[in-house]
Amino acid sequence: MASKKCKCCPPYLRRRQPSFRNKLAGETPEVPIDYRDEEEPVVTHETSPNPWPSTPASENPKNVAIFTSGGDAQGMNAAVRAAAGVCLQYGVNVYAIHCGYQGMVEGGDMIEKLTWASIGDIMQKGGTVIGSARCKEFRTREGRKQAAQNLVKYDINCLIAIGGDGTLTGAHVFKQEWPDFLAELKEEGTITEQQFEEHKFLSLMGMVGSIDNDMCGFSMTIGCDSALHRICEAVDALTTTAMSHQRTFIVEVMGRNCGFLALMAALACGADFVLVPEHPPPVEDWKAAMCDSLLRRRRYTNFSLIILAEGATDIHRNPITADIVKQVCCDNLGHDTRVTTLGHVQRGGAPSAFDRILATRCGAEAALAVLNATPETPARIIGAQGNRIVQLDLTEAVEQTRQVGTELDNRAFEKVRELRGPVFRQELNIFLRIRQHHMDEPPKHVFNVLVFHTGAPAAGMNACAKAITRDFLNGGHKVYGARGGFMGIFDDDIIPLEWQTVKGWASQGGCNLGAERLLPSDVPDGLTKVAATLKKYNIHAMVCIGGFEGYAAMTHLFKSRDEFPEFRIPLTLVPATISNNVPGTTTSLGSDTALNTIVGAIDCVKQSARSSRRRVFIVETQGHNCGFLASIGALAGGADIAYIREEGVRLRHISADIANLHRKFKELSCAVIVRSERSSQNYDTQFLSKVLDEEGKPETKDDTAFSVRSVILGHLQQGGTPSPLDRVYGCRLGASCVQFLLQHMTENVDENGVVSTNSPESAAVIGTHDSARTATAFEQLEPITDVALRTNKHTWWQNLHRLTRVLGNSMRSGDLCYEGEACVGEL
Ligand code: ADP
Repeated sequence: MASKKCKCCPPYLRRRQPSFRNKLAGETPEVPIDYRDEEEPVVTHETSPNPWPSTPASENPKNVAIFTSGGDAQGMNAAVRAAAGVCLQYGVNVYAIHCGYQGMVEGGDMIEKLTWASIGDIMQKGGTVIGSARCKEFRTREGRKQAAQNLVKYDINCLIAIGGDGTLTGAHVFKQEWPDFLAELKEEGTITEQQFEEHKFLSLMGMVGSIDNDMCGFSMTIGCDSALHRICEAVDALTTTAMSHQRTFIVEVMGRNCGFLALMAALACGADFVLVPEHPPPVEDWKAAMCDSLLRRRRYTNFSLIILAEGATDIHRNPITADIVKQVCCDNLGHDTRVTTLGHVQRGGAPSAFDRILATRCGAEAALAVLNATPETPARIIGAQGNRIVQLDLTEAVEQTRQVGTELDNRAFEKVRELRGPVFRQELNIFLRIRQHHMDEPPKHVFNVLVFHTGAPAAGMNACAKAITRDFLNGGHKVYGARGGFMGIFDDDIIPLEWQTVKGWASQGGCNLGAERLLPSDVPDGLTKVAATLKKYNIHAMVCIGGFEGYAAMTHLFKSRDEFPEFRIPLTLVPATISNNVPGTTTSLGSDTALNTIVGAIDCVKQSARSSRRRVFIVETQGHNCGFLASIGALAGGADIAYIREEGVRLRHISADIANLHRKFKELSCAVIVRSERSSQNYDTQFLSKVLDEEGKPETKDDTAFSVRSVILGHLQQGGTPSPLDRVYGCRLGASCVQFLLQHMTENVDENGVVSTNSPESAAVIGTHDSARTATAFEQLEPITDVALRTNKHTWWQNLHRLTRVLGNSMRSGDLCYEGEACVGEL
């Protein structure tokens, strides 16, 4: 696709309004098609050119190049795919620069034009398919000038860099020098006057691809979650052998001077001790402190697990190595101790669902950002702050990240923890609280807390129950568990939860306390029975870790406070359901694990489809009426289309999709449609399979034929080992829940230790919103809850749903466009 410029035209972006982003946000397509028009012909075998967007390429002077550089990280390919896909939808030329700066300096074959075909099958791969390298020449001015000359040769004036802080610093230096390079190249006659005019400014956007998660300002970088998957897989495997032989295992993880990976792994795997650079044991004799902590825990368990960050030191910045730790465990404790250094395994393997989603969101945003950039736009980097995608000033973020190194050398550990951000500090606090087993002084009032599950099992429920139990016990309180949810409460099947009861729960799937869908409203005198049990055990607060049933039941209890004084206690729901349909949170426990299952299934069927010629796979997901799993699973799996109830499925949609499939099968060999189980009552998976199979038969010899297969994932999505994020979220939400309950119990307890509160604020969903953990009162959630459909009316992911079609090159005329999502954030 040529992108020749017209000399007399001013630059595209200044001349044409609205901007790319606004166009995406919903500029009317040139030929609007009313989907309600019954006369619309059913397109079958004709190939229809993609009707969106309709920007003529000849009017567009922007050419974009993407490169990956420095250390590789899983998810980089998803970022390349997303950035390139958005450019291709606009008819913008997009290039891959192979091997990072090396390819930029060398030019020639190292700069390759990307097409839909070249980005169609890269998302599931680890590492970076366009290569990465460390380039000495680019550190010199001469090298960078050569790179500038090569970019001008390819008409490239927009750069998207994916790498660590070295890569991003290099890119920033390059952008600053760009005007001088161009002036010099013009002066020397290497580039023409026209080339000089057309490339006067360079748009630059960066993304952080790094397993270390060390970029200040972002909560997660691309690659960190996949590395965490590798660590958890290894530690879970080591734990079984450690248990058999009563051993101590020291697992060394990567991260350079950043302890994020180690800390998250310690939370996710239930480690006994963690050593990170940001928080050396705050005593002179760290060896004695570590031994003391391990000994306390050995009273309840027969093995120990220590996670060691590769950059760990003592308070004087003397390195703490795995060998030193091993020596201490052997000599001082007499433990049979083994060391496992995970090394580059952590960089390998397929990217996790989270990394694919994060990289896709950032990549799409980076493409929009470079296309919209003006000469005044500073170089920025795009990344995640919790569930939000934000742009940060590149220089500020890199400088702050570098400052961490300086502060570490100064042994200013508190400052270092501050620079690492709130998520790091919260996770460190949670780890320190739940791994210890001692109480400094007994509390003034000992509270009794009841924990139980409702609905279907979801990954992370056990991690959450463990965090809540340990946190309360360490504060001197009592925790009870109801077995089988409300069934256990009705039948008085209540057990005390002790410190050792929950040992090992963080990494276990399902829910050890058991869950049932039965609610108080389902049985005669249900509320009376609940009240009787609360009274019998003198319960001061309730925690339900569950899904929509849990939400409904806890709301019911809250609304019955007038009738039952026993319910005038703090009542909480921690959302745990793979459907992610509970109001009051952007993410529910279990949904990340389910997404990983869906992504794994899509990878498998794609591989199978590639071996046969032109095959469509229909993958059916759970989720009841909520399309989250199908929609975000499709985005993470690189599917072509997702059918969800929220959007509806009509015959005309299916017809348009069939036409798109015929068009795409001229180049590709497989396509995936993800279908939410209740996307349509009648157009179910079987029906869709039959329709597509019939329409995939060739009518003429020029037709592209395809066959169809379907997979129903069913309960596979609820099972398996919890993902690292579900474990970590479980701990974090558990800790927030404890904080919330303690505050409300303490505020509402009388001299006799009786807790009584009627305030709506004391009954809430403990969830996440953007990067914060929040408590939202049930009362506040009523307006955004669709009780009949059991869904949250606020579906923050609807815009991302549109991105699946954009990147699957499956846009239909009249489809709502992807709007982009980033805002300029603060460090
Ligand atoms: P990472 O991006 O993972 O931090 P590096 O620090 O090795 O990895 O940087 C990758 C590449 O970025 C280097 O090989 C070099 O080509 C380029 N680079 C790094 N720092 C600079 C700099 N200050 N000026 C110019 N180029 C740089």
